[in-house]
Amino acid sequence: MNNSPMDCTAFQNELPDLVLTPNARPSLAAVAHLRACPPCSEEYLSFQSTFATLDQWTAPEPSSYFEQKLAVRIREEQAAPRMSWLERLRTRIALNGNHNLRPIMVGALALVLVASGGGIAGINYQRPIQPSATVNDLQILDRNEQAFQSLDELQQDDDSTQQNGSQPSSIDGNAATPVAPPAS
Ligand SMILES: [Zn+2]
Repeated sequence: MNNSPMDCTAFQNELPDLVLTPNARPSLAAVAHLRACPPCSEEYLSFQSTFATLDQWTAPEPSSYFEQKLAVRIREEQAAPRMSWLERLRTRIALNGNHNLRPIMVGALALVLVASGGGIAGINYQRPIQPSATVNDLQILDRNEQAFQSLDELQQDDDSTQQNGSQPSSIDGNAATPVAPPAS
């Protein structure tokens, strides 16, 4: 492949769009970089799992006592002669549960991630004590494979070059640093 090379910074700028846009089609340069750069594919997967977790998250049900109290409160508010717009908004949010809040929360998190250039995810993955270089290499390989597969699905091209073309270089040398230095 002769794609114009993409550096880590450019890739990480594309990363939030890639993960947050449901039908995003990554550019060829982004795919090429992901395959060649274990830290970035790691980050891509951490993004994915973060947002998958957020999608599955549901707030705990409030106690029935809370609902009774809320109902009484709402009746009081309804009986009250007038209601400020802020109170209307509060009541509305309370009645709708967390459905309105979740997109706001996800949006706020996305903003934080974008503002940090994706650095948060990278930090989280490099902090744990690494059990051994070999195990770590295998884990990185495994995650890379997941990343390639999900990218291939996203891309929906008949790109028949599956995960064979680019094994990360960290597999041959059992170097002490399987994870490449952070993005510059
Ligand atoms: Zn990279």
